[in-house]
Amino acid sequence: ESDEIKNRLNQFIEKHGLEDDVQVVMTGCFGFCEKGPIVKVLPDNTFYVQVKPSDAEEIIKEHVVKGRPVPRLLYTDPKSEKHVSDSKGMDFYKKQIRVALRNCGFINPENIDECIARDGYQALGKCLTEMTPEEAIKEVKDSGLRGRGGGGFPTGLKWEITRNVENDQKYVVCNADEGDPGAFMDRSILEGDPHSVIEAMAICGYCIGADTGLVYIRAEYPLAIQRLKVAIRQAEEYGLLGEDILGTGFNFRIELRYGAGAFVCGEETALIHSMEGLRGEPTFKPPFPSVSGYMGKPTNVNNVETLANIPVIINKGAAWFSSIGTEKSKGTKVFALAGKINNVGLIEVPMGTTLREVIYDIGGGIKDGKEFKAVQTGGPSGGCLTKEHLDIPIDYDNLLAVGSMMGSGGMIVMDEDDCMVSIAKFYLDFTLEESCGKCTPCRVGNKRLYEILDKITQGKGEAEDIERLKELSFVIKDTALCGLGQTSPNPVLSTISNFENEYLAHVVDGK
Ligand code: SF4
Repeated sequence: ESDEIKNRLNQFIEKHGLEDDVQVVMTGCFGFCEKGPIVKVLPDNTFYVQVKPSDAEEIIKEHVVKGRPVPRLLYTDPKSEKHVSDSKGMDFYKKQIRVALRNCGFINPENIDECIARDGYQALGKCLTEMTPEEAIKEVKDSGLRGRGGGGFPTGLKWEITRNVENDQKYVVCNADEGDPGAFMDRSILEGDPHSVIEAMAICGYCIGADTGLVYIRAEYPLAIQRLKVAIRQAEEYGLLGEDILGTGFNFRIELRYGAGAFVCGEETALIHSMEGLRGEPTFKPPFPSVSGYMGKPTNVNNVETLANIPVIINKGAAWFSSIGTEKSKGTKVFALAGKINNVGLIEVPMGTTLREVIYDIGGGIKDGKEFKAVQTGGPSGGCLTKEHLDIPIDYDNLLAVGSMMGSGGMIVMDEDDCMVSIAKFYLDFTLEESCGKCTPCRVGNKRLYEILDKITQGKGEAEDIERLKELSFVIKDTALCGLGQTSPNPVLSTISNFENEYLAHVVDGK
């Protein structure tokens, strides 16, 4: 539909003879998916929502030609019922701080000049000409940035470990194989601002001593792939990738490797095996990829969102970045907000924002005026949190303390009508599908867990089944080989812990 809107806008621009003065530019995601397609008119920043191709004529005729905005296409504030014309005045954006998403919705991702006009590649230039690799690593370490893919490992420390391993050949890998259900953070960043990831990979290469970067990207992301390819080509043409970058003697090239969105390939060793053409199965660590990764060489793996933060940290400094967030979780986090929530979309909030602020202030509350029941953070590896957790400031440690986790940023909201046993079954079904099958606790244990849950949801369970679920869950957590298996029972355990009454209702009432 967006393509059609663009064509129609261009058609009326031509009709009014405005081709030399007015341009229609495709951008990446604005985040406010619930209200898309969005058309923003510059320079006055008018933000039109839920635009249809048939609205194109009015936008050009009234707004562009006569300077009169079209009120019926403006966002209506649900509380005041007044029109809001600038996104800054919308509750959806008020509590957001956009660092990783800073350029999404603001630039044409296929035009490197627009990226450069917003400080693109400035951080790479600064690193190459003013900073030693050690100084740049120190900046990243001091910023407190932790891996946004789910693990939360300190990024600067990871870079330092890889730098300190002696080897002639090292690799920088960007994990863009986003596999969580309901998650689209990485896809949106790559579609909206591929240059920030490319720039960060080059900075990482400079820091750790690598001349090659590999983006492991999900093959089902064709637009992200296309935009990455265009961005890589443009960066090469501008001398920002390839041989002797900016005349400094530093060489760095980037290639793409395609993945199939396998959840297990979020685990670094599985991802590396897949890139090598082997089965995407994890192996024991150590050795860690920093020491022996892709093709047995030292390899630094970071996910898309982690990398998108790097240029800003170098440009604005570690102190600026670490002034945002909580004591142990610095900066912001991107979440894909989905489920029974009014404002489905992509958001970026400072660490420490509460779930209540995310769900009610930004998300606009629960759909159809229903009661909030739970929110699953951390995807299939996370847990279901309840009303009593709404005021917890979101950060890595706080979420772990209440039986969930940050994960990569999927956040699915449930209302009073959702059955929490079925939710646990849904996530387990996903994990079963995604398990690589290498180790018994995950391959067989999760199957047994699923069978018990299935029995309970069919009203054929017995009270002892709840204990069986718990016991088996702990065994799987303790004995599975990789993170996928170790966290797979979390949705089961958290729903039993927070909604045991629903399990009992199934078992006792046979529902
Ligand atoms: Fe494979 Fe699951 Fe074992 Fe991980 S825990 S290695 S996904 S079978």
